[in-house]
Order: sequence, then C-alpha cells, then structure tokens
Amino acid sequence: MNTPNESGTRDRPAGVDVDVDRYFPPHVARMEGYVPGEQPQGGTFIKLNTNENPYPPSPRVKAALIETVNDRLRLYPDPIAREFRKTAAALLGLEPDMILAGNGSDDVLTIITRAFVGRGDLAAYPTPSYLLYSTLLELQDARAHVVPFSADWKLKLDDFQRPGLKLVYLANPNSPSGTALAPAEVAELAESLDCPLVVDEAYGDFAAENCVSLLKDHPNVIVTRSFSKGYSLAGVRLGYLAADPRIVAQLNKVKDSYNCDALALAAGKAALEDQDYLAETRARIVATRARLASGMRSLGFDVTDSQANFVWAAGGRPAVETFQQLKERNVLVRLMRYEGFPAGLRISVGTDAEIDRLLEVLRGLP
Ligand SMILES: *Cc1c(COP(=O)(O)O)cnc(C)c1O
Repeated sequence: MNTPNESGTRDRPAGVDVDVDRYFPPHVARMEGYVPGEQPQGGTFIKLNTNENPYPPSPRVKAALIETVNDRLRLYPDPIAREFRKTAAALLGLEPDMILAGNGSDDVLTIITRAFVGRGDLAAYPTPSYLLYSTLLELQDARAHVVPFSADWKLKLDDFQRPGLKLVYLANPNSPSGTALAPAEVAELAESLDCPLVVDEAYGDFAAENCVSLLKDHPNVIVTRSFSKGYSLAGVRLGYLAADPRIVAQLNKVKDSYNCDALALAAGKAALEDQDYLAETRARIVATRARLASGMRSLGFDVTDSQANFVWAAGGRPAVETFQQLKERNVLVRLMRYEGFPAGLRISVGTDAEIDRLLEVLRGLP
C-alpha cells in the first residue's frame, strides 16, 4: 500500500500504473461523453454559440433571488417544488401534478431516459438534432434508432416505427435547424407510437405553436421546457416537464430527491410570473432573427426559416473555415457537423448590435 508518510504526502504518485478504466462498465469506458458548446470564461467574444438569451432575466427574478438568499438557504428546498409547479401549471392550463421540475431540461431528459430505457433497449431520435439524446442512451447501454431529416428538414413519420421502441425524442423546434413540426403532425407521431414521445420544447418560447394541448388526449406525450433560452436563466439551471399525472408520479421516483435548489425554483417562479417581460424580449429576438437571416442570405448563405433563437446557415462560404475566421475575430458561433449532412453554422440571435457586428465581420472576410 502506498500510505502517506509522516509529512502527509505520498512517496510516489498513487497507482499511476493501475488501469482504472477497468473499473467502469465497458459501455461507459468507451463513451466520448457529451461535449457542450464552448463556454469561454472571460475574454471579449461576441458569444453566439450556445443560444443563450442576449437580454438579462426579468427584474422580478433578481428580487426573488434576494428574498431567497435572505430567508431560505438554511433549509432544504421543497423536494417536489410545489409552488413552482403550481405557477407552471396555471400558465399552461394544466394541473400541478402534471409538472415535474428539473435541474435544467437536460436533467429532465436524463430522468426520462433513466425511467424508460434500460440496457439493450431501443430508443429513437432524429438527426441532425440535439446531440445529448445519443449520450443519454449510451449511458444506459441502450440502442439508438436514428431517423434522418430530409434535406429540407422534413421527417417521414413512418421512419420512426420499430418493434419494441421504448422512447422517442423530438426536439421541436429542432436544433440546429430551427424548424418545427406542426402540433397535428406531432399528434400523428404520438398516435403511431406504443411508447412515450418526448417533445423537447427548449425553444418553445420562440415558436409560433407548441404541443401542450396534445397532453389532454395523448398520455404518451411528454413536453419538456427550459429556462435557459426564453427566460435568460441558463446560469441558474432549471427546466420542467409536463405530462400525464401518472407518468409524473412514476418519474418522481427516478429523480434525485432535491434536484432543484431553492434559488432556481424561486427564480423560475418569478420568471414565469412576468409574461410581459417574456413577450417583450421574445419580440426583440424575433425581430433580430429576421435581420440576421436576411443579412446572412445577402452574403450567400442558405438560411433555414427559424422558430427558435438561432438560425442555421449552410452553403455559401465553407462552414469550417468561416467558423475559424470568425473565432479569430472574436465572434463565436457553433460549427455543427453531422454524419451524412453538410457542415453548417448555428448562430444564436444576439442583440442587434452583436448581429450587426457579426455581419460586418463576415462582409470583411478574405
Ligand atoms: C438548450 C437545450 C436543452 C437544455 O436546456 P437546459 O434547460 O439548459 O438544460 C435541451 N434541449 C434542447 C434541444 C436544447 O437546445
């Protein structure tokens, strides 16, 4: 044994020759792990790579946070987030027992995956789409059925059909395209499935329609929402799902007991209570989105019509080189490369000034 000596240090580095990877199940050891978009700390980047909201959260969020800091931090948070769920349910016209809160919607997606998908099980998701779905399935040692989008971002619903499917993920609006299936089409997909369908509405706040109304007649639909995009709270970590109360009751057993802290729950509740603020920032982002799309088009890019707070630009200048050139000039966008699809740039909608700067830099590139 390499025990510490009298001075408390070790004589040699502990166990450098031990293969600790062996300790892990092979499906974990061989995983690459999810790689989030770059989050430079400090620096002067115009940051248009991870779809954060360019505007601060509602002032009511700050007031709620201060109140929580003053009164609540000594105590555990409510494990089932009653106040938050009441507020979210009222806003969506649902009952509180149809809501489950999570540490970001990524946590909600993790809870769903752990609950429905076991080792060797099959689950489906479209591609190109949110990359986390495949990581969550790899963690379960599950199998993925990947359904490709057509070149114009359509899905053939029949392509999802597979015997024994345990779960289907659908980002709607989708990332990186910003496109969305109409609720009627999502309803058709739900009806064709004998398993839960997760409708990931992380960008739902920017879309013309959403799928909350499907919950009434489709007990296999689970809608997930995030506070990171529409509500400007990416730093806080809060998301939730809405589903049939029987599904929520089961999922409650899978989540960590205190998966949302008191600060996040208070911030989320206050944010939901300020719908005027959401409407105002959303309107600004939607207006800037149009300006970004037309600016990119005039530079020769193919830009997909977006229902989200980003646009997808392919064609035009080569994506990899453009990404690098922008980065060298302190403008950070997201370069996305999906197997079998042309590379493209996913560009978050920033402020008007940030988007003007991006377009100016692009115009000036050699
Ligand atoms: C950003 C994003 C999420 C994660 O949101 P968090 O609430 O920050 O965890 C989930 N799904 C999609 C499609 C996203 O783009």
